[in-house]
Amino acid sequence: MIMNKRNIGVIIMGSQGSGKGTQAKLIAQEYDLQHLETGGILRNIAKEDSEIGNVVNDLINKKGEFVPWEIVKDVLNETVEDFDPERGIVFDGTPRRMEEVSYWEKKLQELGRRFDFIFFIRLPGEESIRRISSRRICEKGGHPLIMGKDVQSDEDKCPICGGDIYRREDDAPEKVLKRLTWSKEILGPVIEHYKEKGKLVEIDGTGSIQEVFEKIKKYINDRI
Ligand SMILES: [Zn+2]
Repeated sequence: MIMNKRNIGVIIMGSQGSGKGTQAKLIAQEYDLQHLETGGILRNIAKEDSEIGNVVNDLINKKGEFVPWEIVKDVLNETVEDFDPERGIVFDGTPRRMEEVSYWEKKLQELGRRFDFIFFIRLPGEESIRRISSRRICEKGGHPLIMGKDVQSDEDKCPICGGDIYRREDDAPEKVLKRLTWSKEILGPVIEHYKEKGKLVEIDGTGSIQEVFEKIKKYINDRI
């Protein structure tokens, strides 16, 4: 298949706090791609009152752990098969383990698709911790806030609705550190795999959302 603007396949990976999900949304908008948002799909399943819903809820909302690929696989597979074959896809949150890499390589071939752009948005570990641990949430309206920007102390109220603010347990520095170690172990081999194949595009994630997006866009636009 000849690559054109409409059917490109993009993988977006990133360090924690790199804004990977936001970049995936921006790419999907810019190139009219379908967004395979693994996190969002899992959060929806977690709300279901079913056996699988309970398992996923327990893992992501209570334990803060990754959902095993055996559980994610069928749902993502179904989503991708339902996608418009004429339009490309941004893969967000998968592949992040080696078994997913081999799964998608086979599956995409079946569907006549492929990965054209594989981005990894890299942040130094201390920047991940700094970004994530400065997140706050408003209790009343659920507004996402940033400590040091939207609010200056944990005693402050939400500037949008006046609600109390709190930090999610998962965003505490020690929890972030734990997940960083994890993702290094799990995602590390995936990154190495694409690097060895000469397909990995590393993007410096330290700038603003817009700055990072400009780098991604330039890379794609220079090639399509
Ligand atoms: Zn609020």
